Amino acid sequence: MWSGLPIAYLSLGSNLGDREDYLRQAIAKLSAHCEIKVLNTSAVYQTEAVGYEEQADFLNLVVEIESSLKPIELLDFTQEIENQLDRTREIRWGPRTIDIDIILFGQEEINSPRLTIPHPRFHKRAFVLVPLAELTKEVIYQGWTAAELLAGLEAGDQGVEEYKNSL
Ligand code: ATP
Ligand code: CA
Ligand code: CA
Repeated sequence: MWSGLPIAYLSLGSNLGDREDYLRQAIAKLSAHCEIKVLNTSAVYQTEAVGYEEQADFLNLVVEIESSLKPIELLDFTQEIENQLDRTREIRWGPRTIDIDIILFGQEEINSPRLTIPHPRFHKRAFVLVPLAELTKEVIYQGWTAAELLAGLEAGDQGVEEYKNSL
């Protein structure tokens, strides 16, 4: 039964160390929070790094959660998970053990110094849209579904391939 809590979508990525294990640990930590319920997890995709290209391929996936947290509290918690999982911040868009971005949070539109929702770049990123399209067929952004946003990208889903059906 629908609980009435907002549904949020988180994009997780790793390209350093045991990438699958970092993804698994991050999802376990999300699940362990009493105000977060992980509803669905997409397949795992391998993606060529964008932004700063001299680095290993990313593994990416999207998780669908339901949460009674406020968006900023969810950010605090996802950043705490990043810190616990050896995340360091040296090069922007550089290698990292784990990156957790809040893509959508219910119908929220937020523009604060620490948090922008919807995530400002997600609609241009195939590595977010491919797993997101697996989890939701709803209109999510400016009248478009994830699949439609993906179809509108110049490079399509190029550079994003399925790595594993499930973690
Ligand atoms: P990108 O945002 O382009 O994917 P990134 O994930 O590498 O880049 P980070 O260094 O992980 O960037 O995060 C920089 C800051 O972005 C964070 O400290 C956080 O305050 C802010 N931020 C703003 N909106 C969001 C969001 N929707 N999800 C996660 N972080 C966000
Ligand atoms: Ca990111
Ligand atoms: Ca991030």
